[in-house]
Amino acid sequence: MTGGHTPVLVQEVLALLHPRPGGVYLDCTVGAGGHARAILEAGAPSARLVGIDRDPEAIASAREALEQFGERVRLMQGDYRELSQLAAAVGLGQCDGIICDLGVSSLQLGDPARGFSFSTEGPLDMRMDRQGGARTARDLLHRLPEQELAWVIRTYGEERWARRIARRIVAARRHGSLETTRDLAAVVSGAVPRRYWPRRIHPATRTFQALRIAVNEELDGLDDALEAAIRLLAPAGRICVIAFHSLEDRVVKHLFRRLAAPEGVPAVRVLTRRPITPSVEEIAGNPRARSAKLRAAEREGNGHGG
Ligand code: SAH
Repeated sequence: MTGGHTPVLVQEVLALLHPRPGGVYLDCTVGAGGHARAILEAGAPSARLVGIDRDPEAIASAREALEQFGERVRLMQGDYRELSQLAAAVGLGQCDGIICDLGVSSLQLGDPARGFSFSTEGPLDMRMDRQGGARTARDLLHRLPEQELAWVIRTYGEERWARRIARRIVAARRHGSLETTRDLAAVVSGAVPRRYWPRRIHPATRTFQALRIAVNEELDGLDDALEAAIRLLAPAGRICVIAFHSLEDRVVKHLFRRLAAPEGVPAVRVLTRRPITPSVEEIAGNPRARSAKLRAAEREGNGHGG
């Protein structure tokens, strides 16, 4: 455990990347440094790692968690969708392994002030990078027309009650009763008929997920970002991507499939025909693992680069 965040599918990631001394690794979503630490330990004493995160607070906690590795680690605050520029800035050339653990960390979810969680009272913020000045969840909830809210909730939340929820949101904002995470959770719970409440998750889970994805524009450019990451891989280098909802997983699956297509020269070989999912034991110990899906691919090539 690092800083309250338990990394997901660590052994599976290590088995795929098998970090080695002297190897160069890239963590596109370093978070609290859980996967990064495991990679650095497995590649001791000389594997190096570049860690990126969009959230300045994540970078601060990763810096603390990875301090012992000294010069072997380089951390950068930034959006992995600007990977080419970030890599160039630190002179990162070809990598032996890349990990992208998408979504939010427990550090973010567990901080009420950030507004990611329906179970604690907080402002409707949900920005991963609060210095970026982008729109908050409150901005979207108060400004989007009802139709657009319904679209966001249906598309990014895969929520069948999106229209009813959007209608209730618009009513609540008119009454001035939509300011906090609890307000939103109550509005959504009220909009979904009780007999249709999901069995294992809170009725507001999907709506919160949808807003988070919209606020952070999480699906925009994911495909290009992962392709840019794959271009950084050395021949036979490997990439592991962990997705937490089906929209993300679909992007990963289709990208891998396209790059491995038999026409032309395939760029990668897919290592996971089906996504790898956490064991029952892992899920019992770490609820965040519940929806994780790991896919991996290996860069084709014979050592001549390209
Ligand atoms: N693997 C990490 C946890 C990662 S959680 C660990 O073991 O500790 C996912 C992280 O991805 C979060 O910290 C989030 O801020 C970051 N993130 C999400 N979208 C990002 C993006 N577009 N660019 C960079 N980081 C991003």
